Amino acid sequence: MTMASARPVYTALSEVVNRFFQDRGEHRTGDTALHRKVWIILALHSSSYLLLLLLPQPLNVLVWLFHGLTTCLVGFNIMHDGGHGSLTSSQKLNLWAARSFNLIGSHAYYWWQKHNLSHHSYTNISGIDEDIESFGMLRMSPHQPQRWFHRFQHLYVWLMYPTVSLIWFFFLDYKAYFSEKIAERNYSRPYSRSESLLFWLSKASYIVLYLIIPILVLGWQTALVGFLLMHAIMSTVFTVVFQLAHVVDKAEFPELNEMGRLQDEWAVHQLKTTVDFAPDSRFLTWCLGGLNYQTEHHLFPRISHAHYPELYGLVRERCGQLGIEHRVYPTFWQALVGHYRHLRTMGQPVN
Ligand SMILES: [Zn+2]
Repeated sequence: MTMASARPVYTALSEVVNRFFQDRGEHRTGDTALHRKVWIILALHSSSYLLLLLLPQPLNVLVWLFHGLTTCLVGFNIMHDGGHGSLTSSQKLNLWAARSFNLIGSHAYYWWQKHNLSHHSYTNISGIDEDIESFGMLRMSPHQPQRWFHRFQHLYVWLMYPTVSLIWFFFLDYKAYFSEKIAERNYSRPYSRSESLLFWLSKASYIVLYLIIPILVLGWQTALVGFLLMHAIMSTVFTVVFQLAHVVDKAEFPELNEMGRLQDEWAVHQLKTTVDFAPDSRFLTWCLGGLNYQTEHHLFPRISHAHYPELYGLVRERCGQLGIEHRVYPTFWQALVGHYRHLRTMGQPVN
């Protein structure tokens, strides 16, 4: 560890990670297996879109559901990595990968402001990290006000999760577009003219692809049921995966100090507010784009998730040597229970 470093923990963890890449002679961006996965996901996504228009009822309803899941695969594996510039060594391709978010309903620029700048920098800080804001409907942090109905939040939250993507795509995106704010924090820079144009083009093409064409082909009732089912499954999976990494009973919810800065070194803050889950599940790692290794992702967001399973052991071991807790739930179910318990605790009346 470089003792003179102002970021001793980050320096110590980076040393281990840098050595790993030096020894292997590998790139930090995605490898061939990941790029193959991208093509598989794009094929599943586009073919399921065509099938939901072509197959008869009630089969096409199942395909709408499946298409919702493939949308999550695009989000976790292509959009998220592209947004962090880690999918490939070409920044142009990364930008297009990030823009797959426009295709699946939202807007890459909003994601960059919300996820890369607010969530990754100020994880779990109420008022800045929009991932823990819910218009007061949930109390996810002990620093949020408590209302009487929060005592039931661990129950009604499961009815809310299926609707998050609809609220996001049809309300939050527009709110952020017009206010240029994430939670209480201003955008780092306003929309450029081309970004603004892309926003409206993307929103219009989403409505054409997912509402107008299906209504013309399938009739409005089937199209609407399919559309809502697709959102329900996609929204639940997408929300739960991100919640399990931060809004759980093993995570902390610090506040900024009087100077408006993090109380801990940034890397320590990430280790306190982020939790891994199911590190041994190759299936989940494949599907979730390594988001079960959120600690490694938060510490090294510009490294592709293809490397997280190996970095996990290295980071965990180094944290042990430094005497810093590296938090993990061994399985998905334990993380889900950790999320449920956290919401139940946060909802109890504060004396
Ligand atoms: Zn991220």
